[in-house]
Amino acid sequence: ALSEKLARHRGPGATADGHPVKLLLNVGGAGGAAAAAAADAEGVGLFRTEFLFLDRTEAPTIKEQRAAYGAVLRGFAGRPVVIRTLDAGADKFVPFANTGDEPNPALGVRGYRVGVRNPELLTAQLEAISLAAADHDADVRVMAPMIATPAEAAAFCELARSYGIGSAGVMIEVPAAAIRAADILAEADFVSIGTNDLSQYTYAADRLLGELGELLDPWQPALLALVANVAAAARDAGKNAGICGEAASDPGLAPVFAGLGIGSLSMSVSAVPAVRAALKDYTAGQCAILAREVLSAPDAPTARKIAEEFPAD
Ligand code: PEP
Ligand code: MG
Repeated sequence: ALSEKLARHRGPGATADGHPVKLLLNVGGAGGAAAAAAADAEGVGLFRTEFLFLDRTEAPTIKEQRAAYGAVLRGFAGRPVVIRTLDAGADKFVPFANTGDEPNPALGVRGYRVGVRNPELLTAQLEAISLAAADHDADVRVMAPMIATPAEAAAFCELARSYGIGSAGVMIEVPAAAIRAADILAEADFVSIGTNDLSQYTYAADRLLGELGELLDPWQPALLALVANVAAAARDAGKNAGICGEAASDPGLAPVFAGLGIGSLSMSVSAVPAVRAALKDYTAGQCAILAREVLSAPDAPTARKIAEEFPAD
């Protein structure tokens, strides 16, 4: 019965009454790109570029990057692709970008902070992205990981635009950026919430420690409160706030995010059918009521229970 329910829906993501929530894909390299391109999804919400930089001793050339990005863009003609600039550091250690002698790598020079200290890494990547976008006449947007302040967002977006990239955004995965989302959105064209790192930093719980899974639960109220704050700021700014962390793959959370005003969910190919079906369970109005009730829960199990018991449309 579940597979029948999943198969019944196709096409763009939307609530029962047609309020759109875009269904996007997370792509992590050329490997899964063909399968992703063939999937019934509206574009790529997170193209992780680390695969090109890990396990090597020097940075890939602009030529090599241009070809690698092009291989993914080719399959997505007419659909937007959000390419994330290099997120080196912490759980994604890159020898020529990270020093390796930090006491707390998750709190160290990672993500955009690496680009600030090694501008040639960031500018080469932006140039390669810009060239690949032109090669394939693609709708390419870029975003930076680990942005903490509006000044960082402004500097990154200005640099990206100087390479002719039409849409520049940032990830919201540091609590400071989530709290001051309105100021970040004054600088960026869009934001995408990375719930994996946002959970880690909000709950001070290493994302790699399975033992701390309870604190890293995406139904935790403080995480959802930050998501709500970002979504409200985006609505006020008339810009898109999406989610590209693992939480976007949770069908139970999809109507909650829709109710908060999240405009896109980015996930693995396999997660799309269940998330699409879950969005169809409620109208936009019901999603808003559900979101308000879930947000008022004192803990994650209660939040889940509220959602499970919420009457379907
Ligand atoms: C995240 O932090 O939620 C995210 C999408 O980025 P990554 O998992 O690559 O750190
Ligand atoms: Mg992250």
